[in-house]
Amino acid sequence: MIKFLDLQKINLAHQQEIEEKLLQTFRSGWYLLGNEVKSFEDNLAKYIGSQHAIGVANGLDALRLILRAYIEMGVMQKGDEIIVPANTYIASILAISDNGLVPVLVEPDISTYNIDLSKIEEKMTSRTKGLMIVHLYGRVVFSEDLRALAQKHQLKIIEDNAQAIGAEWTGVKTGNLGGAAGFSFYPGKNLGALGDAGGITTNDEELAKTIRALANYGSNQKYVNIYQGLNSRLDEIQAAVLDVKLKYIDAENQRRREIAHRYLAEINNPKFILPENLADENEHVWHLFVIRTTERESLQKYLTENAVQTLIHYPIPPHQQEAYKDWNDLSFPITEKIHAEVLSLPISPVMTDEEVGVVIDALNNY
Ligand SMILES: *Cc1c(COP(=O)(O)O)cnc(C)c1O
Repeated sequence: MIKFLDLQKINLAHQQEIEEKLLQTFRSGWYLLGNEVKSFEDNLAKYIGSQHAIGVANGLDALRLILRAYIEMGVMQKGDEIIVPANTYIASILAISDNGLVPVLVEPDISTYNIDLSKIEEKMTSRTKGLMIVHLYGRVVFSEDLRALAQKHQLKIIEDNAQAIGAEWTGVKTGNLGGAAGFSFYPGKNLGALGDAGGITTNDEELAKTIRALANYGSNQKYVNIYQGLNSRLDEIQAAVLDVKLKYIDAENQRRREIAHRYLAEINNPKFILPENLADENEHVWHLFVIRTTERESLQKYLTENAVQTLIHYPIPPHQQEAYKDWNDLSFPITEKIHAEVLSLPISPVMTDEEVGVVIDALNNY
């Protein structure tokens, strides 16, 4: 069976280095807010090119904390609206509503699966204060026009960079394109920890300071609390692992690109719509390789029978979830079509050429 993602193999590729770091951290007797987190934050900031990086407990918290900090700073108020793609993982939206802000869903572009820039302005009101962009599947969504639109309406750009660490737009890394960015280091992401972990990057010093306090009970100084904060810290063990793996992220993303380029070149079954092949390969880190077909159910069954494991990202759009009952009657046809037709093929830095060949043959023989 070709696994969708072989996490064990991905982490065993760095076994010796990770085990040494884990042992060292265990023996140090220091498990929170220590040198490992500091080192990872410094290296993450350097890698992204941002002035600040803050480790937090997970990707959802990263996004929640950014918005919460904007509220504490008076940049946003409860009831303000944040534009967000209708086609995203629900965490992007949860981060908004959790803060008492209003998510305003915008349809994606069917060819990029990312937010359709031309449909943003019609959804704006005087209360629109932010634009959350999601580099879905690992593909950058950014342009001069998007930047200009945000500037014109004085919107904060918040990047949901959970799926795209290492991607670049004209030489600038995702995570350094807007006001602040949230990262997820969930084990299955391109840079994955051994449990939950997340991060935030920004060039805004006041924002960074506010987030740091908010993530630590609202405190910058022990037992002095300036905000009603939460506890959302990255721990030393996860930071130590991430610091090892960060060194290899470019090489691992490059291997993902190689596999994606083979899929794009060699899958030739007209029943499937493949993702776009980009002129600038740096604009994609292929967190997921997502094809579309109107025969998804039978294709998935056939692939399973032929030893290829696939997943669906995602089967139910956020506006049709019970969690957002008020939206259930809304219609987002492009989002709904995407959710009904997408299928994610195996892709990871540890897949062998032979395994890639098996996936390609299976698809072409369908
Ligand atoms: C994974 C993910 C998140 C949430 O990250 P967690 O670390 O699982 O909380 C948010 N947004 C997107 C697009 C994601 O893929």
